[in-house]
Amino acid sequence: MLIEHLNHRLRERDAQALRRQRRTAESPCAPHQRVSGRDMLSFCSNDYLGLANHPDLIEALAAGARRYGAGSGASHLISGHSRAHVLLEDELARWLSPCIPEAKTLSFCTGYMANLALLTALGDTSATIFADKLNHASLVDGALLAKAPLQRYPHGRLDLLANQLWRCSTPIKLIVTDAVFSMDGDLADLPALLALAEAHDAWLVIDDAHGFGVLGNDGSGSLSHFGLRSERLICMGTLGKAVGLGGAFVAAHPSVIDWLVQSARSYVYTTAAPPAIAHAVLTSLRLIAGDEGEARRARLAQSIAMLRDGLTTLVQQYPGLGWRLADSATAIQPLIVGDNAAALALAAGLDAQGLWVPAIRPPTVPVGTARLRITLSAAHTPKDVQALLDGLAQAAGTLQ
Ligand SMILES: *Cc1c(COP(=O)(O)O)cnc(C)c1O
Repeated sequence: MLIEHLNHRLRERDAQALRRQRRTAESPCAPHQRVSGRDMLSFCSNDYLGLANHPDLIEALAAGARRYGAGSGASHLISGHSRAHVLLEDELARWLSPCIPEAKTLSFCTGYMANLALLTALGDTSATIFADKLNHASLVDGALLAKAPLQRYPHGRLDLLANQLWRCSTPIKLIVTDAVFSMDGDLADLPALLALAEAHDAWLVIDDAHGFGVLGNDGSGSLSHFGLRSERLICMGTLGKAVGLGGAFVAAHPSVIDWLVQSARSYVYTTAAPPAIAHAVLTSLRLIAGDEGEARRARLAQSIAMLRDGLTTLVQQYPGLGWRLADSATAIQPLIVGDNAAALALAAGLDAQGLWVPAIRPPTVPVGTARLRITLSAAHTPKDVQALLDGLAQAAGTLQ
């Protein structure tokens, strides 16, 4: 009976073209990858700077393990807090301090856990959480787990957010937003959000998973990109995307960090990440801030421009397919197809040509906006981008 119940629900997902499948990467994360026994050219990862397989990081990870051991052995508050974590937190604090005066940081095993920590620790019964409807699932889950009531505003509608803030009577207000929206690639209007936060004495919590390493001065992220500076800014950044390793951090005023250490359950009740990862992240940060990072960001920008040009032409050539290019200037370039089955068919048409681009369907994106989520990396060459454009043209010819 129990198994039958689940099988029934799985068949329902099949019928709606919503069943998810995993593929097995058999070589390191890179544009040219061996996947489930086939050689693929992939446009899926969030490894925006192409650092995930960088020899310096592989060496730093090994050196970190030799120096600090393989595992941390315990949570941060017991005995798992290593010198490597301290050095990383100090370095990240320096990165964010131009935007957050006196910034301190706290490192986490994952961005998902960092967001749960932030929203549950700050979102107590004295607070209200205001969230963009397209925020990442980890922010949504954090808000649902928090004691504070949640008010969501339609994507980017700061006029409606302002109304919600005016009507709110709780003493603490938390405005929470992705900086770069993960399925659309567009940027939140952070200066306007900060102005609202100031007018209403609210915290502004920024999820910079897709900005840190790529945007701003030396890759220091979206706050720097917009030149913001305020002690009411709280920034979550991830270390598994552009930074090429794994983990996350929260940067904020020292009192926020202290409060998270005291009360954030997804910080307190979990084993600290292996210190070797923190050690290797320090190497990655040096690359990102140096000439190599600059060169990689420039290559990424060229690929973004080339892909957008090609996609714009393609969308105009095949109006009957109803494809739409999202308004994004970042490495996330969604091609919105609409229907779930059509998105899957397009992904399958590319797959047959050895091109790996994920189809993203509800509930990850709103119903009727199923899409290909094309992501670019500094490791993609112009030839790779052209191969994707040619593959899309061929698929379009078949599907129209
Ligand atoms: C990936 C992502 C996260 C989660 O970070 P992980 O380190 O992968 O857990 C949080 N927010 C956004 C916007 C993301 O894209």
